[in-house]
Amino acid sequence: MNTAPMNIGPMNIGIVGAGVTGLTAAYDLLKMGHSVTVYEARPYVGGLAAGFKDPAWEWPLERFYHHIFASDKDIIGLLNELGIGDRLYFPSSITSIYYKGEIYPMTREQGGLMGIVLQVLSFKPLSFFNRLRFGAVSAYIRYTPFWKSLERVTAHEWLQKMVGKQAYEVSWQPLLEGKFGPYYKQVNMAWFWARLAARTPQLGYFEGGFQGILDSLADKVRIMGGEIRLETHVRGIHPEGGTAGDRAQTGIRLELGTGNVVHDRVLATCSPEMLKERTPALPASYTAGLDKLKSMGAVVLVLAVKQSVTGGHYWINIPKREGFPFLAFVEHTNYVDKQHYGGDTIIFCGDYLPQGHAYFDMSPEEILDAFLPGIQRLNPAFDRSWIRNYWKFSEIYAQPVPFVNHSTNIPPLQTPIPNLYMANMSQVYPWDRGSNYAVEMGRRVARLMGR
Ligand SMILES: Cc1cc2nc3c(=O)[nH]c(=O)nc-3n(C[C@H](O)[C@H](O)[C@H](O)COP(=O)(O)OP(=O)(O)OC[C@H]3O[C@@H](n4cnc5c(N)ncnc54)[C@H](O)[C@@H]3O)c2cc1C
Repeated sequence: MNTAPMNIGPMNIGIVGAGVTGLTAAYDLLKMGHSVTVYEARPYVGGLAAGFKDPAWEWPLERFYHHIFASDKDIIGLLNELGIGDRLYFPSSITSIYYKGEIYPMTREQGGLMGIVLQVLSFKPLSFFNRLRFGAVSAYIRYTPFWKSLERVTAHEWLQKMVGKQAYEVSWQPLLEGKFGPYYKQVNMAWFWARLAARTPQLGYFEGGFQGILDSLADKVRIMGGEIRLETHVRGIHPEGGTAGDRAQTGIRLELGTGNVVHDRVLATCSPEMLKERTPALPASYTAGLDKLKSMGAVVLVLAVKQSVTGGHYWINIPKREGFPFLAFVEHTNYVDKQHYGGDTIIFCGDYLPQGHAYFDMSPEEILDAFLPGIQRLNPAFDRSWIRNYWKFSEIYAQPVPFVNHSTNIPPLQTPIPNLYMANMSQVYPWDRGSNYAVEMGRRVARLMGR
């Protein structure tokens, strides 16, 4: 329900967070003629998609591995609108699965569904019948438009029943485990449907990395008169001039470390948990709904090494039962040319983990010690001396978990406090969260707020 009054004339809008959602909303609101200030806690723009740069590199690199799908219409549309669409390109890449000591390529990037089916059909550890069954079920998921009823069952149950236990264990189970850890058996089948239905196997990257996209967007926001205040943590969000929703309420007050600022309308793009903590005036009935939205964190070790570790594989999914200390091994420079990184081979070892996992508090050195045996299982010749530099990145709010009937738990963009809006990854559904959907949501919330 939108309880906000229709506004006439330009408004003074505040946005919490300079990630893809916040910057996209800022850009559209400025286009509508409003005045916009973006508050970002960190010293850089980009949020989860932001990059960092070693002095030896030409391009920044994402803290967490990122690519765009050819089907990501919203972000591709925005790139074209910003005049930087020609910097998006589609390098070839091989996605693979580790199975009992061997690495099997699973996806041909140019082959579409037929490519995937052909790969699975040639996946020797599966019986011929199971390979055919897998191919048929994959095709069904890819093309059925009836996803709504699928949210009533878990992907774990549905897939196991449809493709058989063995095919499930070598194909989709590692993916679910890798993303959702302890929650993997509870994720609904509509989320899984969306991954196959929406995604093309072709993976796109951007010249200058994702930070290049975010910097162009931030520059545009500034050129249009928007202000981006970095290192400005929003510590409180309050209805101004009265209690939430009463006649006296005149706007939203943001409490900053340096004082207070009042806006006509505010968009919060932080996590639901952060919004709840920062906004004491939100009614308990509403925050109880926010509490139901669970998410996973992410921990990634990035390595700059002197030679290739896995030959040609870009992405290797590693099933949990193989006992590795991480679940994804991504050799970025088997996808993007290493000349942009001063000749370094770039590796991401990543895992999605529940809040409170020991990895979050470990130092980069401790994480390296923990991950090294896993890297050596992939390439026994790998030695510490190959490493030129390494970094650890972690984020507590990284992957929302869509439980059964998730659509009934998604909060609307308008919060119960008039003039306060929320847009974050937990509201992306049934699609998997991603920069494309952050653009779509940023634009949707701007249309709602800007009128
Ligand atoms: C491991 C990993 C891999 C991913 N891979 C891909 C991929 O391949 N392709 C893809 O498209 N997407 C990928 N994504 C998802 C993508 O990064 C996100 O969907 C997108 O960046 C979300 O943008 P956002 O603006 O909604 O949120 P965020 O990026 O989280 O931005 C929110 C911003 O708000 C700021 N903030 C929070 N609280 C406050 C506060 N109180 N005061 C001030 N500022 C605050 C934060 O610092 C942050 O900058 C990946 C994400 C992860 C974690």
